[in-house]
Amino acid sequence: MNKILFRVLILVSIHANAQNPGYEIYALKYAAVSFTLPLSALVLDAPQKDSMHADFLIWLVKGNNRIVLVDAGFNSDIEDAKDFGVINFLRPDSVLFKLNLQAKDVTDIILTHPHWDHADGVDLFPNSQVWIQKEDYNYCVSGAWQKNGKKDYHKRVARKLLELNIAGRLTLVDGDNKEILPGISVYTGSRHTYNSQYVLVKTGSEKIILASDNAYTYYNVNHLKSAPKDATWDISGYIKAIVRMKTLASDTKFIIPGHDPLVFKNFPAVAEGVARIK
Ligand SMILES: [Zn+2]
Repeated sequence: MNKILFRVLILVSIHANAQNPGYEIYALKYAAVSFTLPLSALVLDAPQKDSMHADFLIWLVKGNNRIVLVDAGFNSDIEDAKDFGVINFLRPDSVLFKLNLQAKDVTDIILTHPHWDHADGVDLFPNSQVWIQKEDYNYCVSGAWQKNGKKDYHKRVARKLLELNIAGRLTLVDGDNKEILPGISVYTGSRHTYNSQYVLVKTGSEKIILASDNAYTYYNVNHLKSAPKDATWDISGYIKAIVRMKTLASDTKFIIPGHDPLVFKNFPAVAEGVARIK
């Protein structure tokens, strides 16, 4: 190889890395549902005989001088947790110790949606800037509590988000396909909540989607026409969003669902309840 070509290749690779900073990506389990759920409770067309365990997860993206959480989990005193017989609870900030990190290290939290099990823990991370879709935030703190509002939100979460906004720590993201941090973009369309979002991380040559509840389980990802039960404002939008995820991710295995323990079979464990996705 001549010297000029070699230098050009080096420059191209440096440029590519500058565009796609390298990130480490982890799934962290902080609790589980104590009972087996029929899959049909979560997915409309699931076979009646199939069942699953559900985990409560957060995801961590580390690199480029950032420690980014995708979702924040919940505090164990929230009443809704009792309905799920939550077991093996570790407060979401203490789960970070498994990666030698502390709550204060978290620079950003991307909330995929403001359901209690994804957003109540947002106050555990004092130095974080929090990112949420503008329409999702507006509905959670306002429309949801009106007479005909859909009340699948928790008042405590609405208050926490309002306080974060007043404190200047909330950034409202307005719409689909927005790169909010280098190599980290958010997408909408599934309407799990009023305008939920999922996260795409570019790292090196890979594109990894942290779907959260925009794809509840691997069953949703692997069965093209599978819709969630009672978990979207727009069933066809939810299915289309998963179809779109497959065009965005560099491999279907890099679409990471919101509550499926299979993530710990599909990726290597670096500690108990911590899977290294990338
Ligand atoms: Zn949810």
